[in-house]
Amino acid sequence: MSEGLLIVSEEICAEVVSSADAFTAVEAVFGAMAKGDAYNFPVIREAIGYADALYGFKSGFDKAGKTLGVKSGGYWPGNMDKGLTNHQSTIFLFDPDTGMLQALVGGNYLTAVRTAASSSVSIAHLARKDARVLGMVGAGHQSTFQLRAAARQRDFEKVVAWNPHPEMLPRLAAVAEELGVGFEAVSPQELGAQADVIITITSAFEPLLMKDWIKPGTHLACMGTDTKGKQEVDPALLASARVFADEISQSTTIGEAQHATEQGLLKSTDITPIGAVINGDHAGRSSPEEITLFDGTGVGLQDLAVASVAAREAEKQGKATRVAL
Ligand code: NAD
Repeated sequence: MSEGLLIVSEEICAEVVSSADAFTAVEAVFGAMAKGDAYNFPVIREAIGYADALYGFKSGFDKAGKTLGVKSGGYWPGNMDKGLTNHQSTIFLFDPDTGMLQALVGGNYLTAVRTAASSSVSIAHLARKDARVLGMVGAGHQSTFQLRAAARQRDFEKVVAWNPHPEMLPRLAAVAEELGVGFEAVSPQELGAQADVIITITSAFEPLLMKDWIKPGTHLACMGTDTKGKQEVDPALLASARVFADEISQSTTIGEAQHATEQGLLKSTDITPIGAVINGDHAGRSSPEEITLFDGTGVGLQDLAVASVAAREAEKQGKATRVAL
């Protein structure tokens, strides 16, 4: 990037970063993390005591991709009433050679595509090639991004979906129709019985899927649990599955694995970084019958990776605003 500060709006991010771009960027940074070429700094997340907001920072440095920066933002529950998204974030990129601010990039769209890229990277590397039924648990803002990204990884013929608030399911049905795949609203037990791949993306604080409902050979991407106390699946499922994560330290503290770890059902040494599979250092799925489970907790380096694509592409396409510093 040349001199000055680039500003890339939310709207431009959506124009210049595709789901495929996000997949490539997230896969590369997970690989770099597993090699020790990229690392995330400790996350800060605070209740600020105003507007019920949670505010914090996720940051890191990718030496391989030369990406240094921070995503700053959080959750403002009252925003919906103001016609705004509750989750708000902005990504700041710095020149790793000089520390100069390089780019300010809108983080809301990018958070959704980088989270969808994370589960789709896990599907690409861990799901059976003959997977045909995709199970969706959750029908909120992230869910449509998840469905679109997953659909690019396997020849899914049908989506089966369940959500604690069934009135939200039509948004997933509409995306399935657009993608030309069948759609069926089912019970969680039926979802487990039919699905070859399952994505969970809810704000749940209790298990929604039990171990005995999941059939052999299933791949699960558990994406909703990103805070202490949240939970989407039965801890016994993690004990019986082959578990992978974006970052093991987050997986056992704020991710889905926190509960199985606390209950002594799983050790951090049982969890494999997905980057090791990407780099060819771990075989991934070991048999067609094995249940694989990816704990996607969400790391700052994912945000920086997609923001870097947004800045580069926006500049290349003449869509970024440049300001002298
Ligand atoms: P949203 O508010 O738009 O949707 C919430 C979803 O969770 C809906 O399906 C809703 O029906 C369900 N839900 C709400 N309360 C629930 C409860 N008490 N029990 C069970 N289900 C409940 O949220 P979103 O933006 O779609 O995000 C969904 C989840 O994904 C959140 O927990 C969010 O923090 C998490 N998230 C994770 C990452 C990551 O990188 N892993 C990134 C972004 C968001």
